[in-house]
Amino acid sequence: MSSKRFARLDLAEPTYVELDGGAAFPLTRAPWLGGARTGERLDGYDADASGPRPRLAPVEPRKILCVGRNYRAHAKELGNEVPVEPMLFYKPATSLLAQGGVVMLPPASVSSRVEHEAELALVIGERLKGASEEAAARAVFGLTIACDVTARDLQKKDGQWWRAKGMDTFCPVGPVVVTGLDPHALSITCRVNGAVRQDGKTSDMIFSVARVLAHVSETITLEPGDLVLTGTPEGVGPLAPGDSVEIEVPSISTLVFSVGPGAG
Ligand code: ZN
Repeated sequence: MSSKRFARLDLAEPTYVELDGGAAFPLTRAPWLGGARTGERLDGYDADASGPRPRLAPVEPRKILCVGRNYRAHAKELGNEVPVEPMLFYKPATSLLAQGGVVMLPPASVSSRVEHEAELALVIGERLKGASEEAAARAVFGLTIACDVTARDLQKKDGQWWRAKGMDTFCPVGPVVVTGLDPHALSITCRVNGAVRQDGKTSDMIFSVARVLAHVSETITLEPGDLVLTGTPEGVGPLAPGDSVEIEVPSISTLVFSVGPGAG
C-alpha cells in the first residue's frame, strides 16, 4: 500500500500540508475531509514536517477517545485486571499539544505523580455508526503518535478521569499523520532524557483497532478527524520538570516534547 504523510503548519493561517520529496504542499482542507493540493509548493520540509514554519498538532479532532489497559503487561504493572471488552475514556481537545511543546505539570498541591503513556493513535477518515469490524478497519485514515499523559494519583483519587487524563497539554500528538501502515505491525519506544522507558509492539494489543472502533461506534458516532489513542505498553513512569521525552514509531516519526513547571 502506498504511504502518504500529512502535517499541519503555522503559515499565514493554520494549514494542512502533504509532505513529499522535501517539500510541503498546502491542502484546501484536512486530507480526511477531502482536502486537495492548492498548487502551492513550500520547499525545505523533511518527512517529519520540520522546516521553516512551526508544526502544529496534525489533527483538530472533535473528540479524543483513549483505550485503557489494552496491553496485558501494562494492566499488570498497575495491578489491574485485563478488561473483558474495550475500556474507553475521553480527553478534551484542549489537552492537545504540538511537536516540541511543553507538558505543564500542575502544582504539587494538585498532583505529585504525572506519568507518560506512549501510544499509537488513529485518525478516523469516515463517519462510523454501528460499524462492523471490517468497516471500522477501513475507516482509519492514518496513524500518528501520542502521549496519554496521566496524573496517576488523581486517576485513583477522583474516580472520573476528567483531569487526571485531561489537563491542558496532556495530549502531545504528531508530528505527522501517515497513511497505508498496518497498525498492528509497529514498535513504539518511549525515551525520557535518552533512557528507554517503554519498548512495546502494537501486535500485543488485547483489542484490535477494528474491534475498538466497532465497539465505540455501537453507541457513539465516530467522525472524520476524531483521534483514538490505542493504549500503552508497559513501562509507564513519572515525568519531572526539565525532562525531555521522545516517542518513536519507526515509519511514522518521533514525537518530541518537554516537561515544565509543577512544584509550588
Ligand atoms: Zn493510555
